[in-house]
Amino acid sequence: MAAIRYHSTNGRAPAVDLREALLRGQAPDRGLYLPDHFPVIQPAELAGFAGLPYPEIAFRVLSRFTGEVLDDTVLRGLCEDAYDFEVPLEPVFDRVHVMRLDRGPTASFKDFAARMMARMIGRFAREDGIDLTILTATSGDTGSAVAGAFHGLPGIRVMVLFPVDEVSARQRRQMTTLRDNIHVVAVDGKFDDCQAMVKRAFADPALGHLRLSSANSINIGRLLPQSVYYFYAASRLAGPGEPIVFSVPSGNFGDMMGAVIAGRMGLPIKRLVVPVNGNDEFPRFLGTGTYARIEPSRNCLSNAMNVGHPSNLARLVALYGGHLDEVGTLHQSPDMTAMRRDLFSSTVPDETTCATIREAWERHRLLLEPHGAVGWRGLLDYAATESISGVPVAVLETAHPAKFPEAIETTLGFSPEVPASLARLEGLPEQFERLGTDYAVFRDHLQALVETGTPA
Ligand SMILES: *Cc1c(COP(=O)(O)O)cnc(C)c1O
Repeated sequence: MAAIRYHSTNGRAPAVDLREALLRGQAPDRGLYLPDHFPVIQPAELAGFAGLPYPEIAFRVLSRFTGEVLDDTVLRGLCEDAYDFEVPLEPVFDRVHVMRLDRGPTASFKDFAARMMARMIGRFAREDGIDLTILTATSGDTGSAVAGAFHGLPGIRVMVLFPVDEVSARQRRQMTTLRDNIHVVAVDGKFDDCQAMVKRAFADPALGHLRLSSANSINIGRLLPQSVYYFYAASRLAGPGEPIVFSVPSGNFGDMMGAVIAGRMGLPIKRLVVPVNGNDEFPRFLGTGTYARIEPSRNCLSNAMNVGHPSNLARLVALYGGHLDEVGTLHQSPDMTAMRRDLFSSTVPDETTCATIREAWERHRLLLEPHGAVGWRGLLDYAATESISGVPVAVLETAHPAKFPEAIETTLGFSPEVPASLARLEGLPEQFERLGTDYAVFRDHLQALVETGTPA
């Protein structure tokens, strides 16, 4: 099998290996990296996954991509180290299960990818003798997962910007209590302001001498580890060769791309259900074939999915033979017939999200937070069009209910139990800087941090 090369969805940047794709994040032509082919795992090996623990499945899947750049023994160690927590599959009715991806240290599914990517990037940076600064803007979950994953890694510092009034106290503490190599900036502005400053810093020639890298889901290093839990769920819920249905609550479409990748690697998927909140650009596109981004993005209860133009659609469209650029212009239509055969999407507005939290609890004693509720409702929408009776199904719950206590309290009248990883943050001292939205001030701050080790 030929070595895998990573090419840009915009097609105007040279192909690179995995190491380079991870360290760069985005391709120089502003496209996103995709493998030029997908390694296939044969049915006999897939059948054997049923008896393997999560870290070993992670190793079997990821080693298909890392062969050129990472020794197998090293990778196996990284998998065991990164995936030292439970991945519960909760039975609900018939063969329908909820896969809880919330048992990692920051209680969202982003731990799965962030922990593996941080370990790989940390290793590559050390081997190359590079001193790296990870710069990221967050509306909550990405910042804490990324900061937690890079915390304490030598040769790497992280700067996270968050909008001071838009993250919960719990989400803030997950970032500000880490300290050491994690520098947190509270911005007096909105998420869009944080994102704009980060983008400007990446493009700023005055900062060209700093090694800045990004850690959001434009990085292919975030997507590959997200294919693993689909293999895991199928190995537990479906028989050998039996197709499974997944429902994945989607925002920037990185999580669902993990399932698309798993499918291309040979995992039999009957249908991939990708419900969204009020940011409904994707179901409209799937229905009409016409793409229109939503700007500004709409604020919904499932706040980690408030994305009006999902970056990863560029990858999805490319895999179906089309070309969508970074600003949302469709240069070439994908094969819509194939897309509609493989995917199902629906919109779940906030009222329905609340009703779903209530109904799932009353009917099944199933506790969902707003993101998982969108996933659950999406499955029910799909089941109204095609029977799921006797079909293995996994609905992804992407965060711990205790991260969204207000939504649970107002709909169910009780507070979710707080996991130890979140509870232990309550008494810890916080450390963060506060800045306005003036780019020049932010730039000086960042430059001083990288050059002297302390912010200006
Ligand atoms: C980020 C996030 C999502 C959306 O995942 P995408 O990969 O952006 O589609 C869903 N739920 C939670 C809790 C998240 O943090």
